[in-house]
Amino acid sequence: MEKDCIFCKIVNGEIPTDFLYENDSLVVFKDINPQAPVHLLIVPKKHIRSINDLTEEDRKIVSEMIITGRDMAEKESVSKSGYKLIFHVEKGGGQLVFHLHMHLIG
Ligand code: 5GP
Ligand code: ZN
Repeated sequence: MEKDCIFCKIVNGEIPTDFLYENDSLVVFKDINPQAPVHLLIVPKKHIRSINDLTEEDRKIVSEMIITGRDMAEKESVSKSGYKLIFHVEKGGGQLVFHLHMHLIG
C-alpha cells in the first residue's frame, strides 16, 4: 500500500470500483476511459511501480496477470477476434499510473 496511489486505493476499496475478477494477488476492473469496446485493467494487489521494479519474487504475479488477461479475453468474447495485452513502462512508454497494471484491449 502506497500513500496517494490511485490503484492501491481501488485495490483496498477506498475508491469503490466493480471488480470483474479478484483473487489473492490481483484484481480486474474496467478502464475509466476505454479505448475499445473491451478495455480492462489487470492490477496486482501488491504495489509495484512498473515493470522496471519487478523482483525475482514477482515472477509468479506477472505470469498470473498474463494468464488472467487470457481468461478475461475469453470471458469478454474477444479471444477469437483478437486483443492486445499492454504494459506501459514509465513516462516515455505512456505510463500515467505508477502502480503496475496490464491493459486488455479488444
Ligand atoms: P497507463 O497509461 O498508466 O498505462 O494507464 C492508466 C489507465 O488507468 C488509463 O487508461 C486510465 O484511463 C485508467 N485510470 C486512471 N484512473 C482510473 C480510475 O480511477 N479508475 C479506473 N477504472 N481507471 C482509471
Ligand atoms: Zn499502488
